[in-house]
Amino acid sequence: MQNSSIDFFLQNIKKIQPPPKKLTLLEKHMGSLIIDFLMFKPSKLISARICKKIEDLEENNEVILEITILRHYQNYFNKKIPYKITSKFEGTNISLIFFSKFTAYLSKIFPINDKVFIKGKLENYKNNYQILHPQIVKKEVVLNKNYLHQVIYKQQKKLNSEEIHSVILRLCSILPELEEWNTNIFKYHKKLPSFKESILRMHCPNNDKDLSPNSPCLTRLAYDEIFAYQLSLAILRYHLNTLNSNYFNFNYIKIINYIKQNLLPFQLTQDQEKCVTEILEDIKSDKRTLRLLHGDVGSGKTIVAMIVAYYVIKSGYQVALLTPTELLATQHYNFFSDLFNKEEINFDLLLASSLNKKKIKQDLFTGQIKLIIGTHALLQKDVKFKNLSLVIIDEQHRFGVEQRISIRNKGKKVDMLLLTATPIPRTMMLTILGDIAVSTIKEKPFKSNIETILKNEDNLEQVITFLNKKMLSGQKVFWVCPKIEEEDSENNSNVEKRFDYLNKRFKKSARLHGKMNSKQKINVLNSFRTGKINLIVSTVVIEVGIDVPDANIIVIDNSNTFGLAQIHQLRGRVGRGGDKGICILLYKKNLSESALKRLLILKKTLNGFEVAEKDLEIRGGGQIMGTKQYGAEDFKFFDYQHHTRLAVLAIKEAKNIIQKDPYLNKPQGKKLLHLLKLFRKKDAADLISAG
Ligand code: ADP
Ligand code: MG
Repeated sequence: MQNSSIDFFLQNIKKIQPPPKKLTLLEKHMGSLIIDFLMFKPSKLISARICKKIEDLEENNEVILEITILRHYQNYFNKKIPYKITSKFEGTNISLIFFSKFTAYLSKIFPINDKVFIKGKLENYKNNYQILHPQIVKKEVVLNKNYLHQVIYKQQKKLNSEEIHSVILRLCSILPELEEWNTNIFKYHKKLPSFKESILRMHCPNNDKDLSPNSPCLTRLAYDEIFAYQLSLAILRYHLNTLNSNYFNFNYIKIINYIKQNLLPFQLTQDQEKCVTEILEDIKSDKRTLRLLHGDVGSGKTIVAMIVAYYVIKSGYQVALLTPTELLATQHYNFFSDLFNKEEINFDLLLASSLNKKKIKQDLFTGQIKLIIGTHALLQKDVKFKNLSLVIIDEQHRFGVEQRISIRNKGKKVDMLLLTATPIPRTMMLTILGDIAVSTIKEKPFKSNIETILKNEDNLEQVITFLNKKMLSGQKVFWVCPKIEEEDSENNSNVEKRFDYLNKRFKKSARLHGKMNSKQKINVLNSFRTGKINLIVSTVVIEVGIDVPDANIIVIDNSNTFGLAQIHQLRGRVGRGGDKGICILLYKKNLSESALKRLLILKKTLNGFEVAEKDLEIRGGGQIMGTKQYGAEDFKFFDYQHHTRLAVLAIKEAKNIIQKDPYLNKPQGKKLLHLLKLFRKKDAADLISAG
C-alpha cells in the first residue's frame, strides 16, 4: 500500500483516466509527472465579491454581479472606439467595454433584456461604472455565495488558469496520504499540515494568506523542499567523505614549479597559488575531495583548475571538465590547447555536436584520452572512463545535484572540484551548499576597468546617440534584455521589440537568443567578432563564455529585473581588451527608490563579493532574491528571504540523519526516500539504494 501511494505521485499524467485535455500543452508547461502538477504553485488568488446590492460595489475590485443588458453600441467608422454594451445593476448603469472584433459573438452571448452574471474589475470612468472584457459566470457557480475565489497559475497562450486548475483539482480528489517523514520540524512548527493537506490547501486556498510564503502549507512545502535538497547534498558528501580517494605520490610542489616555469605566460597571483595548494593538498589526502573554487569573474579560476588537472593526469589518472555551454567548453579547450600542446597529454572536446564522438568515447574507455572537456554530452550513459579520478565542473550552479552525482559515478574514486563564477554571500553559502570546503580567489590578476552608468529609459535617445558615436569609432555593443518576447504589449524591453527599434538606427545589428540553434548563434558571434555587425541584441545567453575583446559597451535593459550578481557577470563581458568598459543600466521611470538603491551598488563597486553581500543586505522592498543565481537550483517553494530558518533546521537534520543512517535503511530513512523521490532527487535516492 505504502509503495503504491508514492507510485501514484510519480506516475505520468497520461495515466489518469480519462487523460486531461490539452495533454501535450500541459506537459510542456508543467512537467509530465503527477507530482509536477501537484507542485505547480499558484501565483495568486483572485477573490471576486458577489454583489447583491448597490452598496456591495467596490471600485477597482473584482466583482460578480447580475446585470440586465440594455443596448449594444458599435462605431463602424472609427475602429478605435471600442464596442460597448450598456447594462443596469439595481438601477445603476454599468458599461461593458470590449476591444475585440467578435461583435456577432457578443450580441449572441449578451442578448438585449436578458439577465446575465458577469465577472470583472469594476472601474470608474468619467463618473460611470465600467468593466473591461467581463467574463460570463454561470448562475450555479455563484448561488448562495458571497465570494468567488479563483486560483491563478502561470498561464500560457493556449492554456488558462481554469484549465490548469481543473486538472489539478482532479488529481487532488484522488490524492493518497503518505506516511509522515518529518519529525524534528514539528518541534519548531507545531501546526504544520501533512504533505497531502499542504498540497490540497495550496491549490484550494481559503484566502490569499494561504498563498503567502509563511502560511502553514507553504512553510511545510518549503521545508520539505530544502530538506530534500540538503539531504541529497548530505548523501553526496557522506559518500565522498567516507570513501578513500585515489593514491597520489607525486610531489605537487615540483609540478607547480614546472608549470610556472614552462607553461604559464604570466605569474600566478598569491590567491591563485594559495588555492592550487589547498586543492592539491585536499586531493592528495586519502579522503575524497568535494571543494568549491570561488572567485569573481576574471579572477583566473581556469588556470587553477588547469594546474590541478595537470597534477592528476601526471599521477596517471583521467580528468573530466564539465561546462554548461558548448561555447564555454570550446573556449576552455582552446585555452588548454595553448598550454598543453608542448606536453604529451592527450585531450579532447566532447559536445553533442561533435562528429567523432564514437572515437572519443573509445579513447576515453581505453584511457588514451587523459583530459576530456565537454558539456552535458559527458553525462551520457555510454561515456565511460578507464580511471577517472577528478571531475571539474565549471559554472557549477548550472548543474543539478543529480548531474553532479551522475558524472561522479563514472569513476571509482572521484574527487570533485566545483567552480563558481558568481561570488556567493557568506550567509547564503551554507544554505545552498551545506558545509562544503571552499577555496577563494579574492584579488584579480587585472584591475577591472568598467564604468557603470544608470539611465532612466526616458533618456533612451541620448543613449542611442552615445552608442552611435562610439560605434562610429569602431566599438561594439551588447544590448541585453530580460526576455525574448512577451505578450504584455507595453513593455519594450524584450529582444524582439528592442531589436525592431534599434535595427532602424543601427543597420549592422543582429539578435542572439536561446531559441536560435548553435549554428545560428555561432554565426552571429562570428559576424560580431569580425565586425560585420557591431550591435547584438540578446538575452542572457551571452552571460557565459563569450569573449570578444573589442566589445566594450554593454547595455542592460530593464536592469532591475536582473539579479545584481547576474549583472555583475554580464558586465564582466566588457572591458576585457584593455580598454575601458562601459555598462549602461537602463531602468523604467517608475522604479522604486529601493530598487534604484540596489542598482547603485553596481555603480559603486566592481568587487563581486561586495556586490553579492550588499544585494543580500538591501533586498526587501519586495525584491525577490533568487538562490538560483548563486548556485542552488530553482526552488519552487523555498524562498531564501522568508525561509532562512527552515534552511538551518534542514541542514542540521539532514546531517544528523545521514550520520546515523547513511543508507536510509531505518524506518524513518525509508520514508525519507519518498521525500527524495517526490522532489526528484532520484539519483541521490539511487545512490543509497545501490549501497
Ligand atoms: P574566471 O575566473 O572568470 O574563469 P579566467 O580563468 O577566464 O577567469 O581568467 C581571466 C583571464 O585572466 C584569462 O584571460 C586568463 O588567461 C588571465 N589570467 C589568469 N590568471 C592570470 C595571472 N595570474 N596573470 C595574468 N593573467 C591571468
Ligand atoms: Mg571561468
